[in-house]
Amino acid sequence: MSLPNCPKCNSEYAYEDGLMLVCPECAYEWNPADSVEEDGLVVIDSNGTRLADGDSVTIVKNLKVKGAPKDLKQGTRVKNIRLVEGDHNIDCKIDGFGAMKLKSEFVKKL
Ligand SMILES: [Zn+2]
Repeated sequence: MSLPNCPKCNSEYAYEDGLMLVCPECAYEWNPADSVEEDGLVVIDSNGTRLADGDSVTIVKNLKVKGAPKDLKQGTRVKNIRLVEGDHNIDCKIDGFGAMKLKSEFVKKL
Protein backbone atom coordinates (compact mmCIF):
# COMPACT_ATOMS: atom_id res chain seq x y z
CA MET A 1 0.00 0.00 0.00
CA SER A 2 1.48 3.36 -0.94
CA LEU A 3 0.83 6.43 1.14
CA PRO A 4 0.21 9.86 -0.35
CA ASN A 5 2.91 12.53 -0.30
CA CYS A 6 2.78 15.22 2.35
CA PRO A 7 0.31 17.91 1.21
CA LYS A 8 2.54 20.64 2.68
CA CYS A 9 6.04 19.83 1.54
CA ASN A 10 5.35 16.95 -0.85
CA SER A 11 7.65 14.64 1.06
CA GLU A 12 7.20 11.01 0.16
CA TYR A 13 8.17 9.79 3.61
CA ALA A 14 4.84 10.29 5.34
CA TYR A 15 3.89 7.47 7.67
CA GLU A 16 0.69 6.32 9.32
CA ASP A 17 -0.02 7.10 12.95
CA GLY A 18 -3.42 5.66 13.76
CA LEU A 19 -5.89 7.36 11.44
CA MET A 20 -3.54 10.23 10.77
CA LEU A 21 -0.62 10.54 8.44
CA VAL A 22 2.49 12.24 9.71
CA CYS A 23 5.25 13.89 7.69
CA PRO A 24 8.70 13.42 9.28
CA GLU A 25 10.16 16.30 7.30
CA CYS A 26 7.84 19.19 8.14
CA ALA A 27 5.95 17.57 11.06
CA TYR A 28 2.60 18.15 9.37
CA GLU A 29 -0.16 15.76 10.44
CA TRP A 30 -3.30 15.19 8.46
CA ASN A 31 -6.21 12.84 8.07
CA PRO A 32 -6.10 11.27 4.61
CA ALA A 33 -9.93 11.16 4.55
CA ASP A 34 -10.06 14.95 5.00
CA SER A 35 -7.52 15.68 2.33
CA VAL A 36 -9.52 13.68 -0.19
CA GLU A 37 -12.49 15.90 0.56
CA GLU A 38 -10.53 19.12 0.33
CA ASP A 39 -8.27 18.43 -2.59
CA GLY A 40 -10.10 15.72 -4.44
CA LEU A 41 -13.41 15.79 -6.13
CA VAL A 42 -15.07 19.17 -6.56
CA VAL A 43 -18.55 18.71 -7.95
CA ILE A 44 -20.65 21.80 -8.59
CA ASP A 45 -24.38 21.78 -9.27
CA SER A 46 -26.28 23.92 -11.77
CA ASN A 47 -26.34 26.83 -9.28
CA GLY A 48 -22.64 26.69 -8.54
CA THR A 49 -23.17 25.06 -5.14
CA ARG A 50 -20.65 22.47 -4.12
CA LEU A 51 -22.09 19.01 -3.65
CA ALA A 52 -21.01 16.37 -1.15
CA ASP A 53 -21.58 12.66 -0.68
CA GLY A 54 -24.98 12.02 0.86
CA ASP A 55 -26.60 15.21 -0.46
CA SER A 56 -30.07 15.24 -1.94
CA VAL A 57 -30.64 16.97 -5.26
CA THR A 58 -33.36 17.54 -7.82
CA ILE A 59 -33.05 17.15 -11.56
CA VAL A 60 -33.29 20.55 -13.29
CA LYS A 61 -34.20 19.39 -16.79
CA ASN A 62 -35.74 16.39 -18.46
CA LEU A 63 -33.01 13.91 -19.26
CA LYS A 64 -33.02 11.03 -21.65
CA VAL A 65 -31.79 7.85 -20.02
CA LYS A 66 -30.08 5.27 -22.16
CA GLY A 67 -31.98 2.00 -22.04
CA ALA A 68 -34.85 3.41 -19.95
CA PRO A 69 -38.40 3.45 -21.28
CA LYS A 70 -39.01 7.01 -20.08
CA ASP A 71 -37.15 10.27 -19.52
CA LEU A 72 -35.94 11.36 -16.15
CA LYS A 73 -38.28 14.23 -15.37
CA GLN A 74 -37.31 17.68 -14.22
CA GLY A 75 -37.99 17.96 -10.49
CA THR A 76 -37.21 14.33 -9.73
CA ARG A 77 -35.64 14.07 -6.32
CA VAL A 78 -32.47 12.08 -5.89
CA LYS A 79 -31.39 11.18 -2.39
CA ASN A 80 -28.04 10.22 -1.04
CA ILE A 81 -25.83 10.95 -4.04
CA ARG A 82 -22.24 9.82 -4.23
CA LEU A 83 -19.60 11.86 -6.02
CA VAL A 84 -17.39 10.08 -8.50
CA GLU A 85 -14.70 11.01 -11.01
CA GLY A 86 -15.56 11.56 -14.60
CA ASP A 87 -17.94 13.24 -16.97
CA HIS A 88 -20.98 11.86 -15.16
CA ASN A 89 -19.83 12.79 -11.70
CA ILE A 90 -22.80 11.77 -9.56
CA ASP A 91 -23.56 8.18 -8.72
CA CYS A 92 -27.07 7.62 -7.42
CA LYS A 93 -30.13 5.47 -7.29
CA ILE A 94 -33.42 6.76 -8.63
CA ASP A 95 -36.80 5.17 -7.99
CA GLY A 96 -38.01 3.51 -11.16
CA PHE A 97 -34.60 3.73 -12.80
CA GLY A 98 -32.22 2.05 -10.43
CA ALA A 99 -28.53 2.85 -10.14
CA MET A 100 -27.33 5.48 -12.57
CA LYS A 101 -24.89 8.29 -13.14
CA LEU A 102 -25.75 11.93 -13.63
CA LYS A 103 -23.92 15.07 -14.63
CA SER A 104 -23.81 17.61 -11.82
CA GLU A 105 -24.75 20.43 -14.21
CA PHE A 106 -28.22 18.91 -14.50
CA VAL A 107 -29.00 18.83 -10.78
CA LYS A 108 -29.64 21.32 -8.00
CA LYS A 109 -28.90 20.79 -4.33
CA LEU A 110 -32.01 20.65 -2.13
ZN1 LIG B 1 5.82 17.55 4.97
